[in-house]
Amino acid sequence: MSARPATEPAAVPPEIQTRLEAAGLRRTLATRAVLGLFLASPQGTLSHAQALASLTARGLDINRVTLYRLLDRLAACGVLQRHADDGARTWRFCLADAPQEGLVPRFECDACHRQFRLTEASEPTRAVATDLYRTLARLGHQGQRVDLSIHGTCAGCIPAAQRGTQEPLA
Ligand SMILES: [Zn+2]
Repeated sequence: MSARPATEPAAVPPEIQTRLEAAGLRRTLATRAVLGLFLASPQGTLSHAQALASLTARGLDINRVTLYRLLDRLAACGVLQRHADDGARTWRFCLADAPQEGLVPRFECDACHRQFRLTEASEPTRAVATDLYRTLARLGHQGQRVDLSIHGTCAGCIPAAQRGTQEPLA
């Protein structure tokens, strides 16, 4: 592969590197380029088609089936998180939380697909994760990550007219 992306992919953080190695994933140019897409916009979510378009735009020649397998493998080893986009009948991918962070609820805007991590989740919300891990442990399973996502429309996407109705009427 002679084509190089115009910009070097972002450095892979050590904890992601560890998970890649544990899963036996080699750090190929394609892997780094795909990770670079997500690391460049940690709030972003990408469908397979969007990831393919971005990589192609950056000059990376990647086969769509190869990209599919790569995204799936990155999701399987916990580097990416995969969730269904019901409207578009497709999968969307985003960076997964580091396991030590515990439960960080995410809010995803269905209009612009930006993700907001609600790191200021309350104590009871965080306790939900602990309770779920205990339940799993009782059954002999080993939980690694809890994902709580809320869907809706973000402040930037709610039409101004609709926002106005929330203000008290004079
Ligand atoms: Zn939005």
